[in-house]
Amino acid sequence: MVQSKRMKMAKAEETILEIDLKALSHNYTFLRSKIKPETKFMAVVKAYAYGSDSLAIAKHLQDLGVDYFAVAYVNEGIVLRKGGITTPILVLHPQKVHFQSLIEYQLEPSIYSISILSDFITTANEMGVTEYPIHLKFNTGLNRLGFSANELPEISKLIHQQQSINVIAILSHLAATEDPNETDFTTLQLERFNAICKKADAIFKRKTLKHVLNTSGIINYPYAQYDMVRSGIGIYGYGNEPHIDIELQPVMTLKTIISQKHTIPSGESVGYNRKYSANTETITATLPLGHADGIGREYGHGKTFVLVNGHKARIIGNVCMDMIMIDVTSIECKEGDEVIIFGKGLSANEFSETANTITYELITGLSQRIKRIII
Ligand SMILES: *Cc1c(COP(=O)(O)O)cnc(C)c1O
Repeated sequence: MVQSKRMKMAKAEETILEIDLKALSHNYTFLRSKIKPETKFMAVVKAYAYGSDSLAIAKHLQDLGVDYFAVAYVNEGIVLRKGGITTPILVLHPQKVHFQSLIEYQLEPSIYSISILSDFITTANEMGVTEYPIHLKFNTGLNRLGFSANELPEISKLIHQQQSINVIAILSHLAATEDPNETDFTTLQLERFNAICKKADAIFKRKTLKHVLNTSGIINYPYAQYDMVRSGIGIYGYGNEPHIDIELQPVMTLKTIISQKHTIPSGESVGYNRKYSANTETITATLPLGHADGIGREYGHGKTFVLVNGHKARIIGNVCMDMIMIDVTSIECKEGDEVIIFGKGLSANEFSETANTITYELITGLSQRIKRIII
């Protein structure tokens, strides 16, 4: 695929991850258009904003007026606060050992068990805070993290007359919003969530925010948007289904350059353990990235393509720690030419599928060694 000349791009002189804030704005606007104007939008920026750059992404989304951020761990929230993010931040999976800093940095915990709740209350009391905002997470069938519905009375007893905390939200997480074969199960999860919300409202006697949908939930179950939705993958440009993918733009493009070309005579091999053998004269190009950058060995052995001057070139042999070799026999190219690994022009979905994995794993696995360039 040929890039439009008008597209503003960074020129690669080494391996870079280009982060396109215009694409981010576009995706945010698209996803917002799928929900009611009054529904709050929580942008999920855990894991370095899905492998990109959490602070750059969060700052841009904060400027766009996003209502909330979510991270997985307390440390990720602290990075945002230290970088000047003032928007509320939910910590999805806080650990007890970090409760004190969670409070110091004004992060909101997702509380998912009785023991976590009582520990949090203890820390909140010790620190002398009042009405500290917390979210209660319920398990509705993902069976990963969350209170069960029948723990509501015990939760109620624990927080009764506690001045230190304030339950401001009830949430759950869905197992299969992107899977049309699982609509019955998703509907069951949503019914369970609805029942929990009703009981919780009766117990807490004050209005709490309810939130349950992830990106594919926004697309496929908009009726369950409640007060807020949580989107991760969508804001980075992937919608888990082709008709949404075409509406979104990839925020991340991983590119590199050709370090060296080799003409391999028939019968010679390429790379460690000689896993590629040339059965005819072959021209290869060596690229400066490898499994230490997050492009694992599963991408080797001719299964996966990259883009060289608009043409697909196979990754051959074993992927090395810091290098990848590709077959450019039939492609006009020279040392220094740019190579797109995935992103604009070559979908991360397509790339990750060749290794039987998903875009989520591919992009969050990109190493911090790769230079991030914001455009
Ligand atoms: C990661 C995560 C999300 C975001 O999911 P996407 O599919 O990337 O939109 C939402 N909610 C919870 C609880 C998560 O852990």
